[in-house]
Parts: sequence; structure tokens; C-alpha cells
Amino acid sequence: MSYQHIMVAVDLTEECDPVMKRAVALADGTHAKLSVVHVVEPMAMAFGGDVPMDLSMLQQQQFDQARERLDAFSTKYPQLLAEQRHLTYGQPRQEIHKLAEEQGCDLIIVGSHGRHGLALLLGSTANDVLHGAPCDVLAVRLKKDS
Ligand code: AMP
Repeated sequence: MSYQHIMVAVDLTEECDPVMKRAVALADGTHAKLSVVHVVEPMAMAFGGDVPMDLSMLQQQQFDQARERLDAFSTKYPQLLAEQRHLTYGQPRQEIHKLAEEQGCDLIIVGSHGRHGLALLLGSTANDVLHGAPCDVLAVRLKKDS
């Protein structure tokens, strides 16, 4: 059985390229469709959810910047047509699962730092995405110098 539609979750850091390259190699080998998703996290989350001010304008700017960065990143990969570049707002695990389901994806690819010690206790997006995923999940190991 080969994969038909692969969803790559990108955090838009320089670490996206090794994750994306692995996804492209896999998609090329199986003729799968590739999509990417970046989730913009609510600013209030970073402040513990309780912020006594209106963040909507800042949030809109953050969203617009993320759109520009996602488009700039995607131009490196010609197989990522505009409708295959998804930008959503919310909590990464929830949004990635929802989108993968809506798009009928059969594989989600994320980067993984292979945390250990205290960092492991804090959890990771890769770990989070794995739990309750609607399809297979591949965690691409990110080396410190990649
Ligand atoms: P982290 O555990 O936050 O270091 O992220 C590990 C991986 O989770 C990244 O390489 C991405 O694949 C994915 N990820 C993290 N944050 C986001 C985000 N905001 N949107 C989409 N994917 C993300």
C-alpha cells in the first residue's frame, strides 16, 4: 500500500527543509500528492490565555506574515500549488488533525527533535500530533546541525 496524500506540518523555521525534503522523496517514490500546513497559534496562548488587551490587530499581522513566509517557503517546492498550502489558526495538534481529515490525507509528516531529559517532560509537537492522529504519522528526526 502506498500513500496517496501526504500532509507536511511546517513551523516555518530553517528546520522545515530537511522535513520537506524527506516528504518530497517519499511522495516522488509513491506518486503521492503533497500538501503543507502551518498553524498560527493564538497570541493569548503564549501569555497563559488571559490577556487584558485586544490582540486582534497583532494577530492579523502575525497571520499575514505567516502567509508570506509559507508562500516563500513553498516556492522552493514546485509541486506545492497554492491550494496545497494551508494556513490555519489555533492549536497545532487539533488543526493538523482536522485538516488531514478534511483533505483525506493518509500520512502526516512532522519534524522531531528527539528530546530527552527535562525537555521530554515539556512535550513536543511531534508527540502531540501522534496522539489521536486520523492517519499514519512520520516523525523526521532533526539533528542539531541540520
Ligand atoms: P516542536 O516540537 O515545536 O519543536 O516542532 C516539531 C515539529 O512540529 C516541526 O518540525 C513541525 O513539523 C511541527 N510544528 C511545530 N509547530 C508547528 C506549527 N505552528 N504549525 C505546523 N507544524 C508545526
